[in-house]
Amino acid sequence: MLDLTITPEQQKIQQLARNFTAQHIIPVAREWDERGGFHEFILAENKKIGLNCMAVPVEYGGPGYDSVTQSLVAEEWGYGCVAFATTLCGNGLSSYPLAIAGTDEQKKLYYGRLVGGGMGGFALTEPGAGSDAGSCTTVAKLEGDEWVINGTKCFATTCGYASIMVVFASTDPDKGVKGLSAFIVEKEREGVLVGAEEHKMGIRSSNTVELRLKNVRIPKTHLLGKEGDGMKIAMKTLDMARPIVASMSVGAARRALDEAVQFAKTYLDVNGKPIGRHQAVAFKLADMATQVEAARQLVRNALRLKDIGVPYTKEAAMAKTFCTDTAMRVAAEAVELMGHYGYSKDSVVEKLMRDAKVTQIYEGTNQIQRIVISGLLLNS
Ligand SMILES: Cc1cc2nc3c(=O)[nH]c(=O)nc-3n(C[C@H](O)[C@H](O)[C@H](O)COP(=O)(O)OP(=O)(O)OC[C@H]3O[C@@H](n4cnc5c(N)ncnc54)[C@H](O)[C@@H]3O)c2cc1C
Repeated sequence: MLDLTITPEQQKIQQLARNFTAQHIIPVAREWDERGGFHEFILAENKKIGLNCMAVPVEYGGPGYDSVTQSLVAEEWGYGCVAFATTLCGNGLSSYPLAIAGTDEQKKLYYGRLVGGGMGGFALTEPGAGSDAGSCTTVAKLEGDEWVINGTKCFATTCGYASIMVVFASTDPDKGVKGLSAFIVEKEREGVLVGAEEHKMGIRSSNTVELRLKNVRIPKTHLLGKEGDGMKIAMKTLDMARPIVASMSVGAARRALDEAVQFAKTYLDVNGKPIGRHQAVAFKLADMATQVEAARQLVRNALRLKDIGVPYTKEAAMAKTFCTDTAMRVAAEAVELMGHYGYSKDSVVEKLMRDAKVTQIYEGTNQIQRIVISGLLLNS
């Protein structure tokens, strides 16, 4: 499948990611899903081929790939396994706040750790503050030249292993979202405690933990942007991250489609005819393929807007909603089309269906995306 709408350089990177997925992810994804634990080895393998920290600019030691290129790679990883893709894309998510608000010194510190092979984390969500980030109860107080952070974050991806994180805390709780600020916190700071690991339905080998911050002292210079900029930084970060989640979802949907097509060609009905010869099955496959292609084009559109520097918040939210809903729908259709085999742990599609579900939830649920889209429609 050669995509002639992308540049030769992008085709080369897409092929690199496809080969990497075939060699290092697909053969082991099921095993990791069953046994749990964290597939840490994949970071080192990925670093070897230069797809680590795709978003880090060249002047800070990264490859500085454009957004469409990052999306092509995320689709390939998502094709292999959404859990692995979540880990591999995590350094992108956690580093976006630096691109948005980081000083040169902050970028050197943060990107330096990622490029060196470390992992980053993004800790916004709390037990009582998910969609409504303004309800954040983690607080940061300035004492002399240091910020002192106290609070608990939850569902923090990769934070059990991350060497550096962006943590959101309120510097003025009376101001709600306007009092939210973003900080760089290194793992080795005293008082950074990793709590329980979440026991999840899908993306089981992705690391998702509670993060406790007890009197964590960081230098004053670890504040990103200004006090009160936290919400703005978080929203811009999510604009950047949503098309990447959307891309992983396109990969998962494409995999479900491939599995279903293969099954329809080879599984015979009682008369010895492949079930794909039945129009009801063939039409279902046609609809699934159309949705996958539409999803891919929607995400490409959002990222092309981003790469040419025009507003893309609405298109990013649309891509996130449509692509992740498509992944869930196509995976569920594939399970149904494959009957008892699709429902069995022996099939790939049951895992795809469990994994796809999270993409509709994290980085802002699809209800929140619809609030973003409709808000921009109604208030413009
Ligand atoms: C596997 C996994 C990994 C994650 N990784 C991270 C991470 O690395 N960092 C991080 O900060 N967070 C992370 N999250 C958290 C994730 O971003 C939140 O789960 C998500 O934003 C939703 O918040 P919530 O779970 O608290 O749900 P809630 O906000 O409590 O929402 C519950 C339900 O109510 C709906 N709802 C809420 N408000 C509205 C509204 N105004 N209108 C309509 N419907 C509404 C929601 O759509 C949802 O269906 C992760 C979550 C998961 C599951």
